[in-house]
Amino acid sequence: MIKINEHYLKLKSSYLFADIAKRIDRFQKDNPDKEIIKLGIGDVTLPLPLACLKAMHKAVDEMGVSESFKGYGPEQGYGFLREIIAQNDYQSRGARIDSDELFISDGAKCDTGNIQEIFDTNVVVAVPDPVYPVYVDTNVMAGRTGTFSNGRYQKLVYLESTRDNNFIPDLPQSPVDLIYLCYPNNPTGATITKDELAKWVAFAKDNKALILFDAAYEAFIRDPELPKSIYEIDGADEVAIEFRSFSKTAGFTGTRCAFTVVPKKCRGYNAQGQEVELHALWNRRQSTKFNGVSYPVQKAAEAVYSDEGQKQVRSSIDYYLTNAGIIKEKMQKLGFECTGGENSPYIWIDGKKDSWSFFDDLLNKAGIVCTPGDGFGLCGKGYIRISAFNSLENVEKAMERIEKAL
Ligand code: PLP
Repeated sequence: MIKINEHYLKLKSSYLFADIAKRIDRFQKDNPDKEIIKLGIGDVTLPLPLACLKAMHKAVDEMGVSESFKGYGPEQGYGFLREIIAQNDYQSRGARIDSDELFISDGAKCDTGNIQEIFDTNVVVAVPDPVYPVYVDTNVMAGRTGTFSNGRYQKLVYLESTRDNNFIPDLPQSPVDLIYLCYPNNPTGATITKDELAKWVAFAKDNKALILFDAAYEAFIRDPELPKSIYEIDGADEVAIEFRSFSKTAGFTGTRCAFTVVPKKCRGYNAQGQEVELHALWNRRQSTKFNGVSYPVQKAAEAVYSDEGQKQVRSSIDYYLTNAGIIKEKMQKLGFECTGGENSPYIWIDGKKDSWSFFDDLLNKAGIVCTPGDGFGLCGKGYIRISAFNSLENVEKAMERIEKAL
């Protein structure tokens, strides 16, 4: 008899996006002439930067010629990409990260989801609330969370991010081993200062814990005082793994390229309490289960760091940040408390009522789709998330409609 992994049965069915789709369907049937503007999901709308496109075309042509054809590449990624990332994203900001500490992958979703495999089933896991659901569900599948009751998994420690703490959770009161942090945050759009991040690094050191730092939205940081990487904090290379992605940085959501930094100084402990290099474990995991990102995609990612690529990427992010600013300003003018929208593509809005009622109001009265906050956790109740990923024209139209409707 083929028995299943029972932990999968503990997964809370995520009806969030299915529910949203159902409500949109119903609205469209009832209002066939009304145009809907979607500011819900976090997917980019601008095309790939021209520099990336050109590099990818050239690489595809290389694949068609025997002299330059490439078969399997290194599982960890090509040296040309790892080196340019290490120099531009880390060494230039004073973070001592070497290219061989980087692992190129096909997405931060896979990496933030898979990383838990290298840790013991009994480690205590702390997750933000509200949360990017991948951190939670992958630990449920691995059997670390216990069952779901009253909106929470029994064995997870929830790091509550609320208005009272400016959406930066307090340090845990009980011991934890694995801590997921995400800044700029999805869904709240909150950012963290160096001082606040340094407290987490110190906590991790004191408790022999490890921080999993998701920096998928770092490209949206414009404030020079804010850290783009956790490795800008002294000593973080001993206690943190960082995840980055070209998805939001350069419009790669459909192209797929990301990377994870596992510094060689980062240690875990074996059953005897002896130190083990996490880099070696992740390397072993990736070499066994992953076969690299395609050469044309890695060449396209490399082009992000060219002068032309940097200008184009900056201009796309500026575009979304302009949208975010317009959304935030309008919602604040309408009397709603908002977080994010600066240094982040997300605006987290206190709807002053149930998340789904606010969602329905925006859909039915204005034809606007947002994401109800309670889909991200108990602390999301009463909030909605609006995303800046759409055209400026649609964002302006959406805000006019919301103003008229509310
Ligand atoms: N991490 C966060 C916080 C995200 O919001 C997302 C995507 O929305 C990802 C990771 C996934 O990124 P990728 O497209 O690289 O898989």
